[in-house]
Formats: sequence, C-alpha cells, structure tokens
Amino acid sequence: MVADKRDYYEVLGVERSATLEEVKRAYRQMARKHHPDVNPDDKAAEEKFKEIAEAYEILSDEQKRAAYDRYGHSASGNGGGSGGEGFGGSGFGDIFDLFFGGAAGGGARRGGPQRGNDLRYNLEVSLEEAYTGIEKEIRFPRVETCETCRGTGGKPGTSPTTCVQCAGQGQVRQTQSTFLGQIQTVVTCPRCSGRGKIYPETCETCKGAGRERKTKVLNLTVPPGVDDGMQMPIRDEGEGGTLGGPAGDLYVFFQVKEHNKFQRQGRDLFAEIPISFTQAALGDDISVPAVNGENGEIKVPEGTQTGTTFRLRGFGMPDVRNAAVKGDLHATVRVVVPTKLTEDEKKALREFANLRGEKREEPKGFFDRIKEAFTGHDE
Ligand SMILES: [Zn+2]
Ligand SMILES: [Zn+2]
Repeated sequence: MVADKRDYYEVLGVERSATLEEVKRAYRQMARKHHPDVNPDDKAAEEKFKEIAEAYEILSDEQKRAAYDRYGHSASGNGGGSGGEGFGGSGFGDIFDLFFGGAAGGGARRGGPQRGNDLRYNLEVSLEEAYTGIEKEIRFPRVETCETCRGTGGKPGTSPTTCVQCAGQGQVRQTQSTFLGQIQTVVTCPRCSGRGKIYPETCETCKGAGRERKTKVLNLTVPPGVDDGMQMPIRDEGEGGTLGGPAGDLYVFFQVKEHNKFQRQGRDLFAEIPISFTQAALGDDISVPAVNGENGEIKVPEGTQTGTTFRLRGFGMPDVRNAAVKGDLHATVRVVVPTKLTEDEKKALREFANLRGEKREEPKGFFDRIKEAFTGHDE
C-alpha cells in the first residue's frame, strides 16, 4: 500500500525546497480543481482530492514534513502520523469537515424526499401469553406525516409558487470563504427547506414542518411461540418520511418474562417437580402442571432417584412458525425430605432404619446443645 503512494511533492507539484507559502498556494489551486463539489459523482476526482489533502497535511506541518523528507511514506507508520494511525488521523478529518460541514458522506446533503426512521418497540409478554399468542394494544410516540397538509407544510387550499432562491431545485450552491479561497458547496435551500415550492401560508397543524409528533396506537397479533429476542417487522409503521418520502418500519422486539416454574430453551420447557421419599421409593403416578393449564402425567417407577428427568412430549412451547408443532416438558423430580415429623412418624422411620440394618447415632436436639453450652461439659 505504501509503495503505491505518489510522492507528496509530486502530488502538489512543488519543489522539495518549496516554502510553506508555496505549498499552501499549490494546495489551494489543486483542491479547488479536484473538490468533490466541483466534480459531483466523480470517484476519480474524489480520490485525487484525498491524495492532495493528505499531501497537504504532511507538507504543511513542519515536523511531519521533516519526518517525510527523511523516511518517506514509511514515516507515517512509526510516529509521523497522529498516534500511529497513519495519515488517516484527525488532521485529515478536519479538512473534510471544513468542506462538507461535517457530513462527509455526501448523501445527507440532498434535499429531496427521505424515508422516515425505523422504530423499535420492546414488548414484554408472559410465558403463558407466549404460549397461546395474544392480541396486544401498543402505544408509542412517533413523527408522522402531517395529515392536514399531507406533508407539504402549506395551508390546505393555498397553492404554492416555485421557490425563487433555488428555482424549484430544492438545493442551492453556496460560496464559502475558507483559507483555501472561495469554495462552492451544494446545500438544501434554506428558503423552501428543499421542497422547491413556497406556500403563501403555512399549515397551522405542523407550522410548515410537514410532520408532527403523535401517539400511535396499534393492535398487534403476537404469534404463539414467540421467544426472547425475536423481532417482528411491521412495514410502514415507523416514522413518516420527509417531503412525501415513504415511512420507515416498526420493529417489535419480544421479551418473555421469567417464569417461577418453567425455564425455557427454544421450544422445550424445564421444571422441577417435588416428590416425597415414599413416592420415589415406592413409585407413583404424578400429575405435572403444564404451561397450557393442563396436567401431564408421569409414571415415577419404584426406586427413582432424586434428579431423574422425565420427558412429557408435546407439553413444551409451540413452534413460532407452526403452532401445531410443540416442544417437550422436561420434568426433573426432587425428593423432598420431610420436616416437622410427629412422634409416630419418627418411630415408623426408626423401625424402617432398623429393618434396613442402618446404624445410626441419635442426633442431639436443640435443647440438649443449649444445656451443654451452659454446663460446659459433654457426657
Ligand atoms: Zn401540516
Ligand atoms: Zn428553494
């Protein structure tokens, strides 16, 4: 890349011994000739102009020029430019900003109709709502094309005349005085705001802006199966365009609230089901509440360990593309150890332990431990 670069002195057409004044004069002449506003839509001229601007940035700076004289283009890679970024650094940007008024892109300068902005709306739904799908009314502020004047900005019933300042073009050439001399730029006509027409009276609703801020109410159909992060584009429901340009789109982003029973992964749901020790040991038929309000059945066999997972096919979430297809519910059983046992129950469990041949130390109760703490000994 460095090898392709032309010599900066050659680019500006000056001698290596040229004074700063001579460099500036050469730059002014070249810049005026190759400025993008003088050569609209000419890529070659734009490249040429960049080359000139870059050469000028270096040769007009005493330190950068000295580095260039010694090391050539490689000076830019090691400290000759700004902060190691080479010549594309901030100084270059400043020059462009001066010419383009900050909008270096070019497209933004056009004064014609423009499409309205896209909007984003975050919609939170519960897992149950995501399961069934739901109709939701949403409200949001947006800028709309003014209904009174249909975006023209003029009072209805009045007819416009052609703007004299831009002769109906919507754009004017402006001559700016810069340190490079006079530079012409094309800007949106300040008199007609790019419309090319002037109304004798402005629309009272929008004060001539052609657009107004409103609260939009929309009825949305949330499809069954929506998941966190999914988005639904709704065409033409974004902001209104300018000067009769088309409206933008609205993007609804879904957020599904966390559920206290179910975790979700795509179409599948996961739940923990508490069961008792006897259910796990002896086996049982257990009904499992599902998100659709129905109950699924799992057959817990004898001797089921805690943490065993059972799959209930079709008890998960519907597929958002085809609600007839449903995921599964993964029910993981957790054996819950009973608390607050009665004396009879304790007795039965001790007998059970004896039958199993389990050797147990009877743990000390709370009051036994208090007593020990006060008497200070252990028997
Ligand atoms: Zn209006
Ligand atoms: Zn005008």
